[in-house]
Amino acid sequence: MNEQVERLIRQICPQFSGVSSYINGQWVVGSGEKISVKFAHDGSDMLDYLDADESIVEQLHNCTAMAQQQWSDLTASKRGQLIYRLGEKIAEHQEILAQIESRTANKPIRDARGEVAKVAEMFCYYAGWADKLHGETIAVPTSHLNYTVYEPLGVVLQITPWNAPIFTCGWQIAPAITAGNAVILKPSELTPITSLLVAYLAEQVGMPKGLINVVAGYGHTIGQKLIDKANVQKVIFVGSVSTGKQIATRAAKRIIPCVLELGGKSANIVFEDADYDKALRGAQNAIFANAGQSCVAGSRLLIQSDIFDRFVADLAKSTHKFVVGNPTEEITQISPINNKKQFEQICAVLQNAQKQGASIAAGNIHPIPQTEGYYINPTVLIGDNGLDCAQQEIFGPVVVAIPFQDEDEAIRIANDSQFGLAGAVWTTDVAKAHRIAKSIKAGTIWINGYKTIHVSSPFGGYKDSGYGRSSGLAALHEYSQIKSVWVETAVTPLVNFGYGAQE
Ligand code: NAD
Repeated sequence: MNEQVERLIRQICPQFSGVSSYINGQWVVGSGEKISVKFAHDGSDMLDYLDADESIVEQLHNCTAMAQQQWSDLTASKRGQLIYRLGEKIAEHQEILAQIESRTANKPIRDARGEVAKVAEMFCYYAGWADKLHGETIAVPTSHLNYTVYEPLGVVLQITPWNAPIFTCGWQIAPAITAGNAVILKPSELTPITSLLVAYLAEQVGMPKGLINVVAGYGHTIGQKLIDKANVQKVIFVGSVSTGKQIATRAAKRIIPCVLELGGKSANIVFEDADYDKALRGAQNAIFANAGQSCVAGSRLLIQSDIFDRFVADLAKSTHKFVVGNPTEEITQISPINNKKQFEQICAVLQNAQKQGASIAAGNIHPIPQTEGYYINPTVLIGDNGLDCAQQEIFGPVVVAIPFQDEDEAIRIANDSQFGLAGAVWTTDVAKAHRIAKSIKAGTIWINGYKTIHVSSPFGGYKDSGYGRSSGLAALHEYSQIKSVWVETAVTPLVNFGYGAQE
């Protein structure tokens, strides 16, 4: 393991002795295949560890049930206090966590700091909900009283990707424990460390051992075993469409419901009446932040024909101003692609795009020559919506610019996609902006902005971008079971066959 990363981890967890799973407050070393992770800047070794083995499923079975019971036995306000304390603890360690995230998830350090701060905010936000999640009294016939209660599901399994490891960890764990559940989290095998540290910190602030467990290993081995065998009541999956389909199919065999947060190919629509400079900056941020490795990336840039050539030329020119480089350096804006597999996939998409007739306004498919890393320059393609590069999720700093004539055509192109995660519209015409927001089939729409996400607002997809909602109150409902309780209040009890309530 990289010595600097190890030193950073020890500043949070002095007894850390190598990557392994964190189960019931113990570090549990795996015995499976060796997993090696590289630093994307130069391809050097970052960390290696052994895949978790199946015996972990049994250990999880015993500890999660007990931890969930202990958690439920606390008052709701006490749970809220502990959740808030976890938020504070994460904020206290913001710089170290960000340094670790930058090195192990290949994320620009400035972005990593921002994401850790957001995770702290997530726990603080949900802490306030802990004693406010309540059911309601329902108007039923006067012979009865009927009320609902929100109950935790029990134990939930969360499987997360590599592009925003600590962010997705907080995004899912915070509402899950607030609703009273215990958690088994399996982060991407490429980026387990910051999730492991969140679980460790949870125990440091006084949460029960076994409430938050993190399994370090591959998806196709231990991830799959957890879906097939772990005693969980719901699977929350954040990742690609193909893996999401496999997971939902396996979970369905056990009648375990899922939330699926999958990929996207979001349309970022710029009208000729938009605030030009703002829309240009928005288009850059939409696709190039985190080197385009973002599920909501504005990867289809729809530009009205009158301004198409000028806008594309300005966007292409602006790509040369970005600082592309080592993620740990303060000046870096665009980091290398997280891993070799993803890097090679992007190169293949670019080659295919050229074969299919897309032209390149900026960028190229070659790594930056002075390093060995997985670098892709910010790339602007010009094409039409039928090309593979406009239909497939590229998950890299590659935008496809597509012209449109009018509002109807913009809507048609935007909706001509298997995905429906997000989208944006840039215009000074308020009524048009709202018409577009209403017409686009996606879970999040931004008007004259891009990528604003906040823990208080629901988030999720339409179509192949998945189902279910994360974040906000909606996530608490996803992590709860609603029970309906009937009390017969009639003086003369109605002991009927059939459905009893009567006026
Ligand atoms: P992925 O689907 O390859 O892997 C995601 C997770 O699933 C990893 O933890 C992996 O180990 C696990 N996994 C893989 N195969 C499995 C199996 N058979 N059983 C159980 N677990 C398995 O995705 P990725 O490459 O890590 O991440 C990139 C994808 O994630 C992109 O498509 C991106 O759009 C999506 N994503 C979506 C959101 C969202 O909120 N909608 C957020 C971030 C990323």
